[in-house]
Amino acid sequence: MQTNFSAAQLADPHVAESEKILRKCVHCGFCTATCPTYVTLGNELDSPRGRIYLIKDMLENGRPADKEIVTHIDRCLSCLACMTTCPSGVNYMHLVDHARAHIQETYKRPLLDRLTRAMLAAVLPYPRRFRAALKLAGLGRPFIGLFEKLPALKPVAAMLKLAPSAIPSASPMAKPGTHAGQGAKRGRVAILTGCAQSVLDPAINDTTISLLTRLGVEVMVPEGEGCCGALVHHMGREAAALASARQNVDAWTRAIDQGGLDAIIITASGCGTTIKDYGFMLRLDPAYAEKAAHVSALAKDVTEYLAALDLPEPARKPGTIVAYHSACSMQHGQKITRQPKELLAKAGFVVREPREGHLCCGSAGTYNILQPDISAKLRDRKVKNIEATGASVVATGNIGCITQIASAARLPVVHTIKLLDWAYGGPKPEGVSERGLVAAE
Ligand code: SF4
Ligand code: SF4
Repeated sequence: MQTNFSAAQLADPHVAESEKILRKCVHCGFCTATCPTYVTLGNELDSPRGRIYLIKDMLENGRPADKEIVTHIDRCLSCLACMTTCPSGVNYMHLVDHARAHIQETYKRPLLDRLTRAMLAAVLPYPRRFRAALKLAGLGRPFIGLFEKLPALKPVAAMLKLAPSAIPSASPMAKPGTHAGQGAKRGRVAILTGCAQSVLDPAINDTTISLLTRLGVEVMVPEGEGCCGALVHHMGREAAALASARQNVDAWTRAIDQGGLDAIIITASGCGTTIKDYGFMLRLDPAYAEKAAHVSALAKDVTEYLAALDLPEPARKPGTIVAYHSACSMQHGQKITRQPKELLAKAGFVVREPREGHLCCGSAGTYNILQPDISAKLRDRKVKNIEATGASVVATGNIGCITQIASAARLPVVHTIKLLDWAYGGPKPEGVSERGLVAAE
């Protein structure tokens, strides 16, 4: 694609990077076929190619974002299916991240939208605040119907619907410290405790620590790590995202200095995609660029790490039929497609892949709150495809997808690690049974 940026514009490294990306696009439109918002809405401006043109026009003319571009960029899930499809290697992720930061800097949103976003940014990345907010959600639940009728309050209704009625206790295993591996030592890793996941389902990381230590891996929870920054990054809040990235880079660099790390284990693929991008996000900061690139290179999804461990034969082969839902951040963001399925199959599960597996479930960070209508359409389509597999449990590697799919599916939705842990001698995940039956029924 031809571009027309001035030399002065290209002196800004963010613009220069976006220009390089834009020049790679050959307008072929292959990406439109796999874009969930184009498939759902049928509007070229809600396709990757349409958004690329809108971003190009905004950046080339150096103008502030307007309502039209904000509408279409807000509808983008950042699912990155377009990057998987694109034959020209267009890095849509970095382009849309730049556009979102530009929108945040130059566009004044309506008051309620601003308040909702500010509240999400102030609450979700902080486990104590998020836990308190979930407890308060019970008070708002009777008003969901009323909020749904008022377009500006639909995000509040979506939030209340997603909030679980029971919140598990915080896990003592998530506190800073070291969990020794059993038997012959096979590695030393740090684990990201994260933010929302540690509140919604702390058992995911507990199970990961339990399985890894049984396999001989020492797992440390470093002092000072926090939210990866993805939630605010996707809202265009660059300063907050970079502050989170620096905090984690510092925490993990200390851990590396104190005894080395073979990997930084991530159990939420949404976080994994962002942490693997820290090297790019902090490339312009001389104090952090090198350390951030090292951290990104060490970041591994737990299934990626397990697949390289050469696991023993499982303790039991459950035979349960599992629908594997590959989160967008797993398959498109990190290109991890094979390992989770192979691990499940080796552990004795019968793995089935739902149709349209490339399409997002509509979770996408805060998307299911900020764009509830499109999100619900994508969720229902996803659940229909999952249920058509005849599986009795859904496995996936991202807490956002677990919450989203579980809000509409009639079968249990669990993190992949819980099924693997069960096969390798751990407890049976709740609601799941051997040979395709749901225990609770
Ligand atoms: S990231 Fe997803 S929703 Fe956004 S343009 Fe690409 S395919 Fe479409
Ligand atoms: S598939 Fe790639 S090159 Fe083709 S229009 Fe989409 S982004 Fe551009």
